[in-house]
Amino acid sequence: MGQAKNRGSQAERIAQAQAKIAASKPEKLVCNGCGADVTAIHPVDTRGLRGIEAIWVGQCECGQTTFAASGEPKAVDAFFFALSENSELTLGSQSKDGEQHTTA
Ligand SMILES: [Zn+2]
Repeated sequence: MGQAKNRGSQAERIAQAQAKIAASKPEKLVCNGCGADVTAIHPVDTRGLRGIEAIWVGQCECGQTTFAASGEPKAVDAFFFALSENSELTLGSQSKDGEQHTTA
């Protein structure tokens, strides 16, 4: 965007990281409760979650919370396994090229 290169390399890195996360955002999640498309999707802080690139959470109008995660398959599996231990949460599926994870 034509800004000076010597200014805020850290800000640049943060911007790149945010862009990477934004690029992984699914267009929508599919609610496991009612099957509706959930388009109100928000990123979840993944600091401390090794191997996880991004986690998205969507709140369906029916009240179900649906998650999607991308990253290393093992880490994603571990994340969804941890979620499955929590009966209050319903797992969802993510439709995105090459990064599909369905637990239903
Ligand atoms: Zn729903």
